Amino acid sequence: MEQSGIQQYFDKYSPVGDITVIAICLLITVLVFTSYVKKTRSYKIFLNLIIYLFAAAFVNVLYHDMYTGITDGNYRWVYILRCAYHALLFSNLLLYVVYIVVLQHLEPPKKLPVMAVSVSLYVLVIVADIITTVTGKSFKITNSGRVVTGMNIFMWGYLGFISIIVFLMVANRKRLYKQVMYGFYGTMVVAFILLILQNICNQNSYTVVSFLFPVMAMFYLVHSNPYDIELGAVDSRAMEDLVRYNYEKKRDIIIMSLYLPDFDVEGASFTEEIQEKIRLLSSEHFKQAVLFQVSNGHVILVADKYHNPDYENRLNKIINAFYIEYESFKYDFKIVMGESFEEISRRNEYISLIKVIHDHMEMNTVHMIEYEDVERFNKYEQVLKELEDISRKKDLRDPRILTYCQPVYNIKTGKYDTAEALMRLKLPEIGMLYPDRFIGLAEENGYIHVLTQIILQKTCDEIKYLLEKNYEVTRISINVSVLEMRDDQFTEDIRKIINDSGIPKEKIAIEITESQSESDFIVMKNIIEELKDDGIKFYLDDFGTGYSNMERIMGLPFDIIKFDRSLVLASEKNKKSEKMVESLAGMFSELDYSVLYEGVEDENDEKRCINMHASYLQGYKYSKPIPMIELKRFFSKVEE
Ligand code: C2E
Ligand code: CA
Ligand code: CA
Repeated sequence: MEQSGIQQYFDKYSPVGDITVIAICLLITVLVFTSYVKKTRSYKIFLNLIIYLFAAAFVNVLYHDMYTGITDGNYRWVYILRCAYHALLFSNLLLYVVYIVVLQHLEPPKKLPVMAVSVSLYVLVIVADIITTVTGKSFKITNSGRVVTGMNIFMWGYLGFISIIVFLMVANRKRLYKQVMYGFYGTMVVAFILLILQNICNQNSYTVVSFLFPVMAMFYLVHSNPYDIELGAVDSRAMEDLVRYNYEKKRDIIIMSLYLPDFDVEGASFTEEIQEKIRLLSSEHFKQAVLFQVSNGHVILVADKYHNPDYENRLNKIINAFYIEYESFKYDFKIVMGESFEEISRRNEYISLIKVIHDHMEMNTVHMIEYEDVERFNKYEQVLKELEDISRKKDLRDPRILTYCQPVYNIKTGKYDTAEALMRLKLPEIGMLYPDRFIGLAEENGYIHVLTQIILQKTCDEIKYLLEKNYEVTRISINVSVLEMRDDQFTEDIRKIINDSGIPKEKIAIEITESQSESDFIVMKNIIEELKDDGIKFYLDDFGTGYSNMERIMGLPFDIIKFDRSLVLASEKNKKSEKMVESLAGMFSELDYSVLYEGVEDENDEKRCINMHASYLQGYKYSKPIPMIELKRFFSKVEE
């Protein structure tokens, strides 16, 4: 056994290291409670680690300080505190193991053996430490005040835990994002070097400090930064930072976006399997690439051209690898990729650009970004700005909104006395826009209701004019989106415009398309019932295009069912389809709905539709949509 004077033994120690640990633990606690931290399971372990570390440092200071106060040769408290100090450090090591197991999401068959070994080791070393201290085999202060050291239980325990941790990190290295793994490896190496240096310098003040390093790594890598450590993704703000940085350095970047719409739901996240695949795909093909999770179901990989000069090759490889994975998981996808464009980098708008590209691409395809996309995106942004302006000004006669309309042929009277109002947008610099270019946009951004009000105002103006000029106008229908009906103000707004214009309310009809959602159904039902009392008529638009729920349709008091052009086309295919459309229409007319066929293009269509219970016909055969002021050409004057 090695012997040394007590003074000499304790001289190897100065409280400076432990006091530093205590201070840093307090500091981290303050930071954790004052910044945004994801409250995951590993976070709770992390907090425990800080508490144990704090306690270990504190007990270590106490235990080294104890001996000075002892004059009677009774060193019992020194022994107890020394054992407590070791037990706290072992608790820390055990918590590190638990932490890694939780972080790696190990399944029970992998987790249980590791935990069994770790807990056994934990119990074993603590018991061994106590027994060898009691029996004086590891640490003893003799009556003459000399310290005798023997078996180094602590070192064996320490090495045991380190082996388990290294095993876990190597065996499951693919479970965590590379950068995070490297962060942990790095801190472990630094901690180890510190312990060796401490030994070489015949010191023992920095043991607890070395335990602090992994905690700091966790704090930085796992809890306080925007990494999603399983996916390895950073959020969209971080992506904007990276784009800005590269733009300022005049570096071109490569963008690769993967969108899986199945995961684009509130609160959803990728399954673990998908996370793992995305992580591997993105880390294996590009050098220094960073993955961003910009929204649910949408990740974007950004790499710079400088480190990946052969990027075309790499893109091909990643796509090939993706298709192999796709064979097994089969989630719908949209992939967009390409090089940076100066103007998009300057405006930092890749995410919006990609979203616009998504709207125009087919599902399960890969799209290379071209300048055309940028042009279209610019136009889109311009349209959005104009819509915003229209919505803000709320001028119900805004000249940018054009009212076109299509006269509807009334079979019973053989005349045109109704029509459908259709919206066009005429914007400076862009010109005329059709609904497919702006209705969706207006709906998504909450501008649709103002547009509807403008169309309604202009339609009322026209009806008023036609009535004054003695034209026979039964009614004109406008299209309304279900989205705007959710607004409490909806019925009030509609009523006010019609009232103010002074035309009878029954001159207006509202077309709505069926919605699949139950709550929309309830909203629609309430509104239809309310406005129907005023005399407003309701049409069910686009019947035959969705998954029609007959029970729901019957639950809504529509006046006219508009059969979509697809049914007109279907009825042309064969007798069976014709019979089907005919009996659907027959059923509606028996139930007192009128049937209107849309998209009647020629005489053949017309003939068939007349034979299939049509009351009204609409389509290019009679007229393409025309500016509303031309409607009078179709309408007849009341005979006097
Ligand atoms: P919709 O309500 O089904 O309108 C009928 C569409 O079919 C019109 O397209 C019309 O031009 C087109 N069409 C008419 N006759 C024929 C034909 O014989 N053959 C074919 N193939 N097509 C024909 P448009 O004007 O481009 O409108 C497209 C859609 O945009 C409309 O479909 C409607 O859903 C929406 N929309 C138009 N105006 C408004 C509006 O003021 N508000 C809202 N919320 N949506 C509108
Ligand atoms: Ca319509
Ligand atoms: Ca329609």
